[in-house]
Amino acid sequence: MRTQRQVVDYSLQKRAVLRELLAGRIGAYDVCDASPYLKNAARFHGEPTDQRCPICRSENLIHVHYIYGDELKQSAGQARTRAELPVLAMTLREFQVFVVEVCPGCDWNHLVEQFLLGRDGLAGGTEDAAEQETASGSTPRRRREAQR
Ligand SMILES: [Zn+2]
Repeated sequence: MRTQRQVVDYSLQKRAVLRELLAGRIGAYDVCDASPYLKNAARFHGEPTDQRCPICRSENLIHVHYIYGDELKQSAGQARTRAELPVLAMTLREFQVFVVEVCPGCDWNHLVEQFLLGRDGLAGGTEDAAEQETASGSTPRRRREAQR
């Protein structure tokens, strides 16, 4: 999404939880505790993914997008489908999105990431707001064989 900014990635925290689980320091019941609200949100507003659940490995994870912000008024804290977000991003100045992954099988759930959306991201600079880090760095090599 064009106006996405201030992305916070929670994959490190997730890995830490999974490590704790593997080491037996926490139990599955500690992390597979999706509330009925979250499960409903996943069912009705969730975005299916092709990632397997790291706990039960029998279901694919579903991403739920929760939106927060003053401009949302009574809608704040509600789940929205992914398709609704770009529309909101063009009508509102700024709102926060929290993405939560949920397993419909074992109720595993964890925060995936959070970010800001909204028209404010279009004002001021073009590049700096949408700056992205490429983890692997290198640009695709272009070989010119000089054959004509
Ligand atoms: Zn699961």
